[in-house]
Amino acid sequence: MKEILLYQDEPLNLDLNTIVNNLTNKCSFLRFKVGTSKSVIETPFLKKPESYQSLSDSLKKETENIFKAYIFSEKQYHNNYFFESYENKVIISFFGWDSLTKLSMQNGVVYFIADLLALYIDNTYRHDETTGCIYDFGWHKPGIDLEMRKASICKKCQVRLSKRKFGKDDSEIHSDLNKILGELRNASQKDQDIVLYWGPVSSDEPQETIGDKKKIFSKKYDVFLAHNYVDKPNVRLICEELRRRGLNPWLDEEQIPPGRMFQDYIQEAINNISSAAIIIGNNGLGKWQHLELRSFISRCVVRNIPVIPVLLPGADRLPENLIFLREFVWVDFINNISETKAYDDLEWGIRDRRPNQ
Ligand SMILES: [Zn+2]
Repeated sequence: MKEILLYQDEPLNLDLNTIVNNLTNKCSFLRFKVGTSKSVIETPFLKKPESYQSLSDSLKKETENIFKAYIFSEKQYHNNYFFESYENKVIISFFGWDSLTKLSMQNGVVYFIADLLALYIDNTYRHDETTGCIYDFGWHKPGIDLEMRKASICKKCQVRLSKRKFGKDDSEIHSDLNKILGELRNASQKDQDIVLYWGPVSSDEPQETIGDKKKIFSKKYDVFLAHNYVDKPNVRLICEELRRRGLNPWLDEEQIPPGRMFQDYIQEAINNISSAAIIIGNNGLGKWQHLELRSFISRCVVRNIPVIPVLLPGADRLPENLIFLREFVWVDFINNISETKAYDDLEWGIRDRRPNQ
């Protein structure tokens, strides 16, 4: 767990509380809080180290032992760039924001958080040109509009990241970074202010308050195993292996009392899972009717729940009526149900990071 404190300099009017609550709920490792000290930058321009030294003693004290503190300001940097960092603090400049993009500054807050995390886990490379990748340097400042809308890590950068030997914390941050990018992308592509996109944190997702130590809300199950009952023996083996790997799968025979309505069952599942594996054997998906599956999958996509088709041994292609699953990268058991490679791929899909990193 690492803690990031957010501050805003006047006269910005950012809803940082909604941002920290939602980010903390979406992330599994990082925790976000709004700092309690007032942030006042005394210098007319932003400059390192003067602006940082001008921050109040209470803010310096509050941020002493935390992972990062991000301070948002409308002042301009002496070089007109977006940010510089000093110790564990970063002052981020929204100077001239309205001339760069029509998207809200609140999307900008989430963008810079993602950008700084991306740099934290790998500062070896930045694109000089605007590509929309989070690793764009941002020489041309209006490029930030595309960067917020694409909010992603390009193929080339993904390859570079996959070759890096991340420690445990960096892998966790990488995984949270992908979640944050997904949220930003979904809101920005709809031209929506991310705070409105999220809406208020609902009452079944307890709000983070300053001072509490534990993250209250988390998904109960790592992966939902959708399958045909005739494949149950194989599905049980998959379930056991996932448990051996420290994951908590949702298997219907363990969670659902007999006689429950299928729709209720799906609703309950979707509220409690962080990924969905669609397990396909020779006989297709059985009681999962085509439309139900489509609606289940689109609900997963809307909620940013990764969908992972899994082909059991003997099922060498997706059935005709499930051809829409081609949009997703699938896991393939080629000869038997104990193939390590297939389990590694599945674990990778569920955790959003390669095993053993
Ligand atoms: Zn890139």
